[in-house]
Amino acid sequence: MKEVRVRFAPSPTGPLHIGGVRTALYNYLFAKKHGGKFLLRIEDTDQTRFVPGAEEYIIEALNWCGVSYDEGVGIGGPHAPYRQSERKDLYRKYADQLVNEGHAYYAFDTAEDLELMRERLKARGVATPQYDVFTRGEMVNSLTLSPDETAERLKSGDTYVIRILIPENEEVLVNDLIRGEVKVHSSRLDDKVLFKSDGMPTYHMANIVDDHLMEITHVIRGEEWLPSAPLHVLLYRYLGWEPPLFAHLPLLLKPDGNGKLSKRDGDRLGFPVFPLRWTDPVSGEVSSGYRESGYLPDAFVNMLALLGWNPGTEQEIFSMEELTAAFSLERVGKSGSKFDPEKAKWFNHHYLSNSNTNDVAQLLATILAGKGIKAPETLILQVSDIVKERAVLIPDLWEQSWFFFQAPEIFEEKTVQKFWKPDSPALLVKIIDLLKTIDNFSVENVDLAVKTFIHDNELGMGVVMNTLRLVLVGGSFGPGVAAIISLLGKDEAVIRIDKAIKRLSL
Ligand code: GLU
Repeated sequence: MKEVRVRFAPSPTGPLHIGGVRTALYNYLFAKKHGGKFLLRIEDTDQTRFVPGAEEYIIEALNWCGVSYDEGVGIGGPHAPYRQSERKDLYRKYADQLVNEGHAYYAFDTAEDLELMRERLKARGVATPQYDVFTRGEMVNSLTLSPDETAERLKSGDTYVIRILIPENEEVLVNDLIRGEVKVHSSRLDDKVLFKSDGMPTYHMANIVDDHLMEITHVIRGEEWLPSAPLHVLLYRYLGWEPPLFAHLPLLLKPDGNGKLSKRDGDRLGFPVFPLRWTDPVSGEVSSGYRESGYLPDAFVNMLALLGWNPGTEQEIFSMEELTAAFSLERVGKSGSKFDPEKAKWFNHHYLSNSNTNDVAQLLATILAGKGIKAPETLILQVSDIVKERAVLIPDLWEQSWFFFQAPEIFEEKTVQKFWKPDSPALLVKIIDLLKTIDNFSVENVDLAVKTFIHDNELGMGVVMNTLRLVLVGGSFGPGVAAIISLLGKDEAVIRIDKAIKRLSL
C-alpha cells in the first residue's frame, strides 16, 4: 500500500480554533496509526486575509499539544517550501493547462459587471446569484468573446481571472470516508475563480495542486469544506490526477447544540475556544486560551479526540499513544459534537490528580517563582502530593496551597465568628506546648498527638480542629489539619498559632 500522507492546511487568518486543532490531531493520529507522514502546509494565497502572528500561533499551538508534524513550515521536507505564498510561481502552469484543455476560461468582468449580474438575477427571482452554467454566457469572458478579442484583451493587459468551466448537467460524485457517497448536481456549482487578477491562485487551485505535488493520500478536514469537494473532484479529473480520499469531519457545536461553536462563543460562555491566548494585532482584543487557563496539553488532547471520534468502548482516558493505536476514521461520526466545557475540566482534573508528583511540583514551582516566593523543594513536593487531587486547573495548585508558603494575612470573618471563643487562646497555648513535645513531626505523629490531646481533655474534635485550621490558614479550607501542621513544620506552626492568638484576642 502507498505510504499514507496527510496534511493540515490552515490559512493564517487568525488564531486556530479548537476545531482546527482537532482536525490537525485527527490527521496526526491517522498518519501515526498507518506509519505515514503528517504535513503542515500554510495556505496564505489570500493576502487580504493575512493576519500577522497567526502562522506562529498555529505552530506554537501544535507544539503545545504534542501534535508534531514530519514535514512543513519551519522544518522543511522533500516538498519544501510548505508556505503557499512561496510556491506562487508553481501554480500558473496548471491554470494554463486547464484553459488550454477547455476546462477553464478567462473572465474579464469588472466588479461592476458582476454586481449588475447579481442584480439582474435577483430581479429574476434567483436567490443565490452566481457565475455559473446559466450565467456565464451573459458575461465578458473567453467563452463569449471571439478568440481574437480575447487574445487582444490579454495582450493589452486587461485585468482578468481564470475560472473553472463547470460541466453542464452532470452528477458530481464525492466519495467521503465518513459520509459515504455525496452527489451534487453540477448546475448547483459555480465557476469558481482559480486564478486571481493579482497573480495568485485561489485556495481551490493551490490546494489541489499542492495536495497532488505533496502526494497527499487522504484529505481529512472540517465539514465546512464539503461544499468545495465536488469542485476539487473535478479539478483532479481535469488535471488528470488521481484524487486523494476525502474525509470531512463533523462540526464542533455550541454546548447547547445550537449551531457551530464559533470564535466568539468561548469568552461569551466562559471557556476558551482557542488552544493558546490570542491578542488580536489590530483591535488588541484578548481571547483566552487553554494553555493560559491552566489545562494540561494531554488533557486537552484527550478531550478533543473524543469530540467527533469514539473508541466504541467505555474508555475515556487515552494517552497520545493509546489514541494513535485506537483511532480510525470509521469511528468518526457524521453528526456534530457538542462541546462540553465541564467535561474539559473533568479531563484536566483527572490528568492533574493522576500526574506524577514531580511533574506537579514543577508546575507549582513555576507558579511560586512567578510570585517571587522561595520555598524548599521538599515542601513543594509534599504540597504537590496533597493538592494535586484537589486541583481542576493548574492555577488551583496555588489556590489550594498558598497558605503553605505564606502566613494568612486575614482571618475569614464568618469562620472567626463561628470558632473563635473566649477560651480559644488558652486552648491554643496548650496546643503550642503539645506541638513542642513532638519530636518526629510526621503527619501521623501530629495527628495522633492532637487527637490524644483532644481525647484526654475531653474536648470536641470539631471545635479544636476548626480553631486550629482557622489560625493556621485563615479560614475553613485546606487539607487535613495534621497535614497542614506537619508540612508547615513545628516552628512555623507555632509562630502562626502564637500570632493568631495575639491578633484575634485584640
Ligand atoms: N486552507 C483551508 C483552511 O483554512 C484548508 C482546507 C483544506 O484542508 O482543504 O481550512
